[in-house]
Amino acid sequence: MIADFLLLPQPGSPELYDLIASDQHRVLYNFLHDRKDDPPTMVEIRAHAATVAGASRSQTDRRVRDLRDVYGIEVSCRRINGKSKYILEGLRDPSVPRRIAISRRLRAQVLLSQRCAQCGKTPNDDAIKLEVDHKLPLTWGGDSDIDNLQALCHECNNGKRDYFTSIDQHADKMRAAASWLEPHKRIGEALKAFEAAGELAPSQIIAVVACMHQFQEDWQKRMRELKELGWQYRVHYRYEDGRKRSHYELTAWTPWPHGDIAAEIRRRERARKADKKSASS
Ligand SMILES: [Zn+2]
Repeated sequence: MIADFLLLPQPGSPELYDLIASDQHRVLYNFLHDRKDDPPTMVEIRAHAATVAGASRSQTDRRVRDLRDVYGIEVSCRRINGKSKYILEGLRDPSVPRRIAISRRLRAQVLLSQRCAQCGKTPNDDAIKLEVDHKLPLTWGGDSDIDNLQALCHECNNGKRDYFTSIDQHADKMRAAASWLEPHKRIGEALKAFEAAGELAPSQIIAVVACMHQFQEDWQKRMRELKELGWQYRVHYRYEDGRKRSHYELTAWTPWPHGDIAAEIRRRERARKADKKSASS
């Protein structure tokens, strides 16, 4: 296990900023890193996050899970001297898909709607059987969190499986992008991955990645907001199976700002509007 620590970025290093853009999550990472020889209990982690970042108990619990589930940092919990201690172990190999079992309680919760999330058919009226589906497949970096699960009928689930198989050639690019917690970063990293491969990014794939971790009502808006950070892309339209589909070509991008990306975008938006106002008056 000692060797694994070598792979973990040092607190304050550029590598850590690249790995974890969120300040609140970095606070937890730094604390666990500092205490790796004397691992803290959850009570100590919560107390530290409350003091340093004003985080509530539930926020801290959630963010510790995020370190593992979103950022791919293994944090194990072990009994030491009769207490559960949290230990920073290493970075997860991103090429190994996660297999997380779905508990019976979680399954029941997902199926509670009693309606296929795609076609709306119900077991009572349409004599269909509902299945639990991972919105983003595990092999694409999806997890078994309630947000990534939905009820689908057998027919829709099969159709979806066929669709994902047909675009599975992009799984590598998507895995890299899907691990980020911020939607802007997921969209941007996906565009970069396609650009690096010399391919256009199909909009339906960007949509899937954008809506990971948390559903985005308007992911196209998140994408347009990247322009505030100096990003540029071109839209190409193609007809596929009689449907007009957009594809994106990234033409310029900038390194991610440190800290909260959405806050930085709002800040630049305000500054730009203020400039415009003062120019017109
Ligand atoms: Zn269905």
